[in-house]
Amino acid sequence: HIGPTSTSILIIGCGTWGSSTALHLARRGYRNVTVLDPYEVPSAISAGNDVNKIKGYARADSFSGNEDHETYVSSRLVAESTKAWETDPVFSPYYHDTGHVIAASKPEHIEDLRVREGADKPESGFLALRTAVDFRSTMPKGVLTGEFPSWKGWHKKTGCGWVHARKALTSAAMEAQRMGVKLITGSPAGDVKALIIEEGDVKGARTADGAEHRADRTILCAGATAPQLLDLKGQLRPTAWTLAHIKMTPEEVKLYKDLPVLFNVERGFFLEPDEDNHELKICDEHPGYCNWTSPSQDGGRNTSVPFARHQIPTVSEEGVSQFLRECMPHLADRPFAFARICWCADTPNRAFLICQHPEYTSLTLGIGGSGHGFKDIPVIGGYIADCLEGKLDPRMARTWRWRPETAVGRDWHDVQGRMGGSDSVLNFANVKEDEWTSIAPRL
Ligand code: FAD
Repeated sequence: HIGPTSTSILIIGCGTWGSSTALHLARRGYRNVTVLDPYEVPSAISAGNDVNKIKGYARADSFSGNEDHETYVSSRLVAESTKAWETDPVFSPYYHDTGHVIAASKPEHIEDLRVREGADKPESGFLALRTAVDFRSTMPKGVLTGEFPSWKGWHKKTGCGWVHARKALTSAAMEAQRMGVKLITGSPAGDVKALIIEEGDVKGARTADGAEHRADRTILCAGATAPQLLDLKGQLRPTAWTLAHIKMTPEEVKLYKDLPVLFNVERGFFLEPDEDNHELKICDEHPGYCNWTSPSQDGGRNTSVPFARHQIPTVSEEGVSQFLRECMPHLADRPFAFARICWCADTPNRAFLICQHPEYTSLTLGIGGSGHGFKDIPVIGGYIADCLEGKLDPRMARTWRWRPETAVGRDWHDVQGRMGGSDSVLNFANVKEDEWTSIAPRL
C-alpha cells in the first residue's frame, strides 16, 4: 500500500523526467522523496540541459475520443502539457508560443509530412509554403535569406513553439526541493552504481561513495544511462544527436526574437537565439549515433554506451552548414561557439516506457524519452506517479507497458522513422579522432 506520508521513494536521475516526477510527488503530498544524480542540477549529461526544445502542436483530429490507443495517448499528452505550459507557474515562464514551420526537401518526405500532420486540412491551421518567398515571409526580413532549394512546407502560427529547456528543468527540480524533496547531487554521493536487489525485489540503490539509499519504492529515471543499471531486455537503445551554437550580435538577437521554430525533417532545425548567451542553436537532422561496445567488452550483449563530449563529428558540422546555406546563408561560415552530443534513448516504437517492473514489484520505470520527451516535462511526472500508485490510465499503461517481445531480434540499425545525413544510424566507434570538430572549450 502506498501513502504520501508513509511511503519512502527514491528517484534515480534528476534530469527531465526525474525532476518532473519529484515535483508531482511533492505536490501529491509525498513527504519522503529523495533524488540521486551524479551531476548538480541541471545535469551536464541530461538530454534536457539545453537552451531550447521544440514544443509541438496538437494534431487537427486530436481528442475525438475514437482514436486508437497511441493516437489517444499522444493527443492527450499534447493537450495536457500545452495547458500546463500555459498555466503552471513552475513552467509557464519558459514557454514561447511562437509557432512552427515544418518542411521537407524530397517529394516523398513532403508527402509523408502532408499526410502525417494533416497539413492540408483547413482545421489544422497550417498555411502552405511553396516558394523561397513563402518561407522567408514567416520571419522578419533579413532572418531567412536562403533560396530553400526543393523545400516545401507548412506554417502553424500558434499552439506550438519552443521552451527554454534548462530553465524549465531547473525550475521543476528547485520547486520540488522547496516542497521538501531531498536532492543528493554530484559525484560520488549522487552517482548510482547499482540497484540494491534483495529477496527478488529492488530495495533502493547504492552510490559511488558506498552509501546505501533504501526506500519502499524506487523510480528509475536515468535516461540513456538506464540500461547500465537494469537489464531492459533490449527495449532501450541509447542514441545521440548533435547540436551546435553560433554567436549572434546584439542586433541579430533583437531581429531574431520570437521566431517560429523552423524544422526541415531531412536537414535540421533552429530556434531563436538564447537570451543569456546570445547563441543560435542548430541541430542537423539524421537518424542518430550509437556507441557500440564490442561483444568481448560487454559479455556478448549489444550495448550502446553514452559518453559526454563537447564536440560533434565533422559530418554533422557539414550538415549544419548545409542547413544554414539553404535557409540562412549569411550565417553559414560563422564558426561554432559551442557544440555537443546529446543522448536520449529509443524504444523500438518510440513510445515511452512507463511501467512497473514485471519482477521487481517495488521498481517503477520512467524512461524511453525516444527523442520527444522534453515537451511533456510539466505533466510526465504525474503519469509516472500514477503508475507508482497503480492508477495509470489503462490506454497509457498499455502504450507505455513493459514490452520485451517488441525488442526480440531488434534491428539495432533501424532509423525508426528518422531521416537526413547518411539516412543510417552511425557508430561513434567509427569516427576517427581527426573527424571531430575542435571547438575551444568554454571557460
Ligand atoms: P535525461 O534528461 O537525460 O535525464 C537523465 C538523468 O539521469 C540525468 O540527469 C543524468 O545525470 C542522470 N543519471 C545518469 N546516470 C546516473 C546514475 N548513475 N545515477 C543517477 N543518475 C544518473 N524532446 C522534445 O520534446 N523536443 C525537442 O525539441 C527535443 N529535442 C531533442 C534534441 C536532442 C539533440 C536530444 C538528444 C533530445 C531531444 N529531445 C527533445 C528529447 C528529450 O530531450 C528527452 O526525451 C528527455 O530530455 C529525456 O528525459 P530523461 O529524464 O529520460 O533523460
